[in-house]
Amino acid sequence: MSKIFCNYPWVHNYVHPNGKYRLCCTTSQDIVTNDNYHSFHAGKHSVEDYWNSNRMKQIRRNMMNGIKVRDCEKCYQQDEAGVDSLRNTAGMNELIANTAEDGTYNKPANYMQLQMTNICNLKCKMCSQMYSHMNGLELLEMGKVSPEWLLWVKEQGANVNNWTNELGEKQEWYKDEHYKIKMFEHISKNINDMNIIGGEPTLVPEFYEMFEYLDQHGSLGKMSITLVTNLTNTNNKLTKWLPKLKSWRIWASVDGVSDRTEYIRYPSKWSKILESLDFYKQLAQTSNGGITLSPAIQLLNVDQLDGLIEWWKGFVGGEINEKFGFTWLATVWYPLICNPNIAPQRWRERLADRLSLYKFDQFYDNFVANLRKEEIPLAKRQELQRSFIRYNDAQDRFRGIEKTWRDLCPDLATEIDHEQNQ
Ligand code: SF4
Repeated sequence: MSKIFCNYPWVHNYVHPNGKYRLCCTTSQDIVTNDNYHSFHAGKHSVEDYWNSNRMKQIRRNMMNGIKVRDCEKCYQQDEAGVDSLRNTAGMNELIANTAEDGTYNKPANYMQLQMTNICNLKCKMCSQMYSHMNGLELLEMGKVSPEWLLWVKEQGANVNNWTNELGEKQEWYKDEHYKIKMFEHISKNINDMNIIGGEPTLVPEFYEMFEYLDQHGSLGKMSITLVTNLTNTNNKLTKWLPKLKSWRIWASVDGVSDRTEYIRYPSKWSKILESLDFYKQLAQTSNGGITLSPAIQLLNVDQLDGLIEWWKGFVGGEINEKFGFTWLATVWYPLICNPNIAPQRWRERLADRLSLYKFDQFYDNFVANLRKEEIPLAKRQELQRSFIRYNDAQDRFRGIEKTWRDLCPDLATEIDHEQNQ
């Protein structure tokens, strides 16, 4: 089997929240235009404009000739480490046979990931300006009170906030009418399988406009759609469109039970999350839909892992199955202060002892076993714990919230104090 080839440059379109076209969600490289100095952008270029651009042809040529592509470095690293990567070689021979020697491929993709925007109504602990403009706005507001704090956050980079610039700016590629309609046309004609992500897509009027367009053009029946949502907002219009789809699935971003998810996904409300889950559950029971719980497992909720799974089982009627599933894909490793591996060794071992009494699946067992490993040496852990404290204490004070991380995770707070003094 090829160690280089991947079918994504043949079958997939990806639009990042900032509007840039990329090969897929794994890469951080934008597709450059033919001048080599700009990037293709959904508000300025159509899918057809980039599909057979010089860069796309070069990527396909390289893949066909066994030459590594820099965009795919992360997948190669995961493959070499024996970890499952997104790289997919399905249909390789046929795709190559239908590709010109210079890399031109004249069929359109039929699979797409559309990140509508970075507009969001939440400021989640593990998020950044790239996926929530509210996160950026809050950083700016906090920076007015303490410029020194904002500078520290920037300097910390991926340690505390996955820093990106352009704080507070909304990314709205679909505001260009011409390219918005071109995108809807492409989706309607070619795409059968689509993931829609934000920001929070349900806040964007063009999200509903797209469904209306697809409905009017008779395309919903051939499409399977996955919608990633924070469940703070539902719209009755979805009851008209979702049942017309070939299939649909909600990836439900819920990070804990009750006040824990409210803390991590600030300022969400548990009662509203339950109401939205109920909305989709009812709809799933009468159409070809389902819900997958997709928690961002991290330091601030890992102690609730067994409780969260048990709560989800109860909510969906006892068993996790194809209709009502669970995924580990949203597990958080960055920013590093959210990574469970920075927790004190004694706390992680005690937690692993308790969590191992609960039985779920192989990923759960692996996850719990990994908690016992000392992945990050003591000195580095202590440094990251200090960053965790500084970041969360400052945010809790600024938000004026009732229950701080110390109230919600008292054992963790005690053990961090203990490990800091070692
Ligand atoms: S190899 Fe990985 S990074 Fe490259 S296109 Fe495929 S999935 Fe994306």
